Amino acid sequence: MRAKEPIKKICEFCGCEFEAYTQIARYCSHDCNRKAYRKIKRKEVISLTASMASQTKRERTKSDLSEREYISISDAAAIMGVSRWTIYRNVVQGIIPAKRLSQRTTLIRKKDIETLFDVIEPYEVLVTGERKLIDEWYTIDEITEKYGLLRHRIRKIINAEGIPTKKAGTRTLIAKNKIDTYFKKKGFDTTLSNLADWITTVEVMESYNMTEHSVRVFVSRYAIPKKRINGKLYYSKQHIDKLKNKES
Ligand SMILES: [Zn+2]
Repeated sequence: MRAKEPIKKICEFCGCEFEAYTQIARYCSHDCNRKAYRKIKRKEVISLTASMASQTKRERTKSDLSEREYISISDAAAIMGVSRWTIYRNVVQGIIPAKRLSQRTTLIRKKDIETLFDVIEPYEVLVTGERKLIDEWYTIDEITEKYGLLRHRIRKIINAEGIPTKKAGTRTLIAKNKIDTYFKKKGFDTTLSNLADWITTVEVMESYNMTEHSVRVFVSRYAIPKKRINGKLYYSKQHIDKLKNKES
């Protein structure tokens, strides 16, 4: 809209004072207006070129990485869109496998990054007190002690049942509730914690006048809960007694 009185303004291009007749006038002359417009356009083109260049650089890095089997911590950070420190921390915790090849070179296998999410684990809730976390996970030794199975048997069960595990340094931790549920389902009575509740093969042989072979067949046929303590195998006395009394 045209003003009744001319307004004193400063030209945004040449800086000289001029009299404008509209509120939106920004330049003193058509010439300044045209030059300013060109300047703005030139800036737009320059920034567009720059952004295109950085985009090709990003894409180049991306395709470079896609061809490589081993990548650096920085590359891994770029791929996952997290900080290098986050990658580093996960490497230290043993969550992301990595190898230090020299003082300054640590390599990660890209495949390991890609398969990181293939192993489904319960989402870890971070708590300040560590007690809660530790209570929820067993070490393999703890399972051996509680359920009397050798490490390789426990590993087999973990794999077959898909029981969640996590690494804590060099140790493997196993989801406590899943293991307990598994053994409960298998009829393992955890109330039998007293050693008196468990008898050795020899004791079974003596108590029931059985050969070693028949004991083996018997405990296997009825899936008698067993427990290994200090390398020695024990069977649940309660289960055997119950079955034997029924049989006789
Ligand atoms: Zn001007």
